[in-house]
Amino acid sequence: MLVSLAVDVTERDDKREGPGFAAPGLGRELVDAGGEWRSELHAVARAQFERAAEANGLSEEARTRLTEPRRALVTNFPVRRDDGSVVSLTGYRVQHTLTMGPTKGGIRFAPDVSLGECAALAMWMTWKCALMGLPYGGAKGGVRCSPADFSDAELEAITRRYAAELIPVIGPRHDVPAPDMGTGEREMAWFMDTYSQQIGHSVPEIVTGKPTSLGGTDAREPATGLGLVYSVEAVLERRGRGLDGMCVSVQGFGKVGAVAALEMARRGARIVAVADIDGAVHDPHGLDVNALLDWRRSGNELAAYPEGDRLGPAEVLTLPCDVLVPAAAARQLTASNADAVKARIVAEGANGPTTPAADEILEDAGVTVVPDILANAGGVTVSYFEWMQGHQGQNWDAAEMDSRLRRQIRSATARVLDEAERSAGSLRDAAMSVALGRVSNAALNRGVYP
Ligand code: NAD
Repeated sequence: MLVSLAVDVTERDDKREGPGFAAPGLGRELVDAGGEWRSELHAVARAQFERAAEANGLSEEARTRLTEPRRALVTNFPVRRDDGSVVSLTGYRVQHTLTMGPTKGGIRFAPDVSLGECAALAMWMTWKCALMGLPYGGAKGGVRCSPADFSDAELEAITRRYAAELIPVIGPRHDVPAPDMGTGEREMAWFMDTYSQQIGHSVPEIVTGKPTSLGGTDAREPATGLGLVYSVEAVLERRGRGLDGMCVSVQGFGKVGAVAALEMARRGARIVAVADIDGAVHDPHGLDVNALLDWRRSGNELAAYPEGDRLGPAEVLTLPCDVLVPAAAARQLTASNADAVKARIVAEGANGPTTPAADEILEDAGVTVVPDILANAGGVTVSYFEWMQGHQGQNWDAAEMDSRLRRQIRSATARVLDEAERSAGSLRDAAMSVALGRVSNAALNRGVYP
């Protein structure tokens, strides 16, 4: 029996005073364990967890141990700017569970990075890794800053100082960072070098998403978009269909959305719209994705593309199509627009693009949501291959990586489809059920120390 969680956290008026503390006339008193993590995004992650915990009859002990992140590091650190002045920046690293092995998760440099956001994303990483059968718990971290406001030299200083601050809690067998929004292989190279300098020898396995010259792989960047396509193909195959002839709308034309659009077009899908943060291009007859990519590579704005119609970035979510790919940001499908979604399949490229209230609306309307922890798990899966390569001193080529990725995504999707058929529930509930089962069993088997 599923509990209804029709609360739309994007619209909730949360008037609690401080993070985890209240002052009811008796001085500051801890009244709300775990309140430190409270944020809109963490409320979404927690609502999904509680729904899955309820549906799967998760024991009280497992719930207690998995609801909140295991630990976090918050650091304010100084960085000298090019003009000689010093700024103080805030960085975070949250590790959700240490039960499954080292923790794994990206590092983002963005102006809205917060403890609560990292806590939500770390929790999703735990379920994603468990669903994919990777030997990791979830983590996430970042520095609250706008990378565009800093020079390359300043970004190097930020990355190196942040890496140094994290040394007490990271390591190739403790916590392995990766790129995320605002960071890429350049930052991972600086991060790896800083860690290696401190440790005294080269440690390529401390990060994934490195340049190939340092043990990274070309297969990492397209992996998330490709993984999304493999999971959608597997869902369609179960219905005796394929991507050929499908009509697709994509929000987000970055590392995930652009690859998903291109790979779906290669498989015969008609891409009717793509959007980035500034606007969308729409053509019901189908867009030429290669031409759009060339247009963007030449430094042009997507919305200025000379063909098709212009739309707002959110309008692509409600266009008539078979498959919708929200691959931009969190909380895009909410109670206010979910009932206008016309797609029959929503494949979540972004993390948390659908609020719990929107999820219920889509489920009632018979829309299949391929959940983020499955649809965008390709990136962490290839990161795992890169980490294994580092440990074993091996070097797999891109074709080997791709065939391993396809196999792993198809097998996880099949497991989720089987579980959804067995329980007559949604793919999100089924994916959460598989993931939660694996993590809670491991936690209970390990017991409580001491
Ligand atoms: P990116 O920075 O490469 O691209 C993001 C794209 O989304 C850009 O085109 C941007 O203009 C667009 N965008 C941002 N906000 C938008 C909005 N409100 N409306 C329309 N478009 C908007 O980032 P990415 O790596 O492609 O990541 C996209 C999402 O996928 C993020 O939620 C990220 O956390 C998630 N994700 C990425 C990976 C990965 O390997 N890159 C893995 C798992 C999850």
